[in-house]
Amino acid sequence: ETLDKGLEKSKTSFFGKLSKAVAGKSKVDDEVLDNLEEVLVTSDVGVNTTLKVIERIEERVSRDKYLGTDELNQILREEIAGLLSETNIGEDTEFVIPKDKKPYVIMVVGVNGVGKTTTIGKLAYQFKKQGFKVVLGAADTFRAAAIDQLQVWADRVEVPIVKQSMGSDPASVAFDTLQSAVTQDADVVIIDTAGRLHNKVNLMNELTKVKRVMQKVVVDTPNDVLLVLDGSTGQNAFEQAKQFTAATEVTSLAVTKLDGTAKGGVVIGISDQFKIPVKYIGVGEGIEDLQVFNKYEFVDSFFR
Ligand code: GDP
Repeated sequence: ETLDKGLEKSKTSFFGKLSKAVAGKSKVDDEVLDNLEEVLVTSDVGVNTTLKVIERIEERVSRDKYLGTDELNQILREEIAGLLSETNIGEDTEFVIPKDKKPYVIMVVGVNGVGKTTTIGKLAYQFKKQGFKVVLGAADTFRAAAIDQLQVWADRVEVPIVKQSMGSDPASVAFDTLQSAVTQDADVVIIDTAGRLHNKVNLMNELTKVKRVMQKVVVDTPNDVLLVLDGSTGQNAFEQAKQFTAATEVTSLAVTKLDGTAKGGVVIGISDQFKIPVKYIGVGEGIEDLQVFNKYEFVDSFFR
């Protein structure tokens, strides 16, 4: 139910547009398909993914000869679930640290303001609640506020944080954090990184260096590079995903602020286009407002 509530705006808007798209029609024809295309694009699913969905529905129309608009909901649901299936695991799998991968290192990337710090705080809270020993690393050393904010979350969740002064080398902070985590026998390390996009080469160099230095402490780290995107920014989120995936190997996504927006469709498009699983969605500012992404529940909540 929290998911329904979190996605309320997206859901209401999507449904509203969808019913308008088929109003007064009993059969899926070109006009309905045109309207549907507009519904998907204006729900921020993205043009490429929209065209893919439309194409698949067209195929079904031509195969089955007749497709009633009453069946459209079910088919859309199947097609969207199908797209999400290609990259997303789906079931709520509880996070398990592979035995040989302790500490499990999550490097978090994303531009300022998307909810990176908040997501790290919420994640630390979840891991701690599951009984894991968590250490945070404040490697976004570019802004003093970033370090302070992470400290606030560390205090709130009551987990240790490793930090240095503003302007210090992010790689050095990451190095210290991993060393400290090993010494403390920690289970999970979450490293915050700077989110400046003004220079792609800089970003790439910085993230590469952070990774390389961490590998000096723990081989094969980071285990996960989590890109945080603000779901309410729609197409900007696509653009950021493009830039970050070009700068580093992103292994999973967290899409935030889905509670305040009608652009929840962005999850479908981004996951489809970048072939990276969405692991978490943010549905509020509170400490509990981070959910493990479940594609079935997500699709269901859109069509409920
Ligand atoms: P950062 O600059 O990327 O670290 O962003 P912050 O974590 O400081 O978050 C920026 C703002 O977005 C803060 O006011 C957060 O409370 C808010 N925020 C983060 N995640 C969510 C979310 O899922 N939903 C809502 N409504 N607000 C969020």
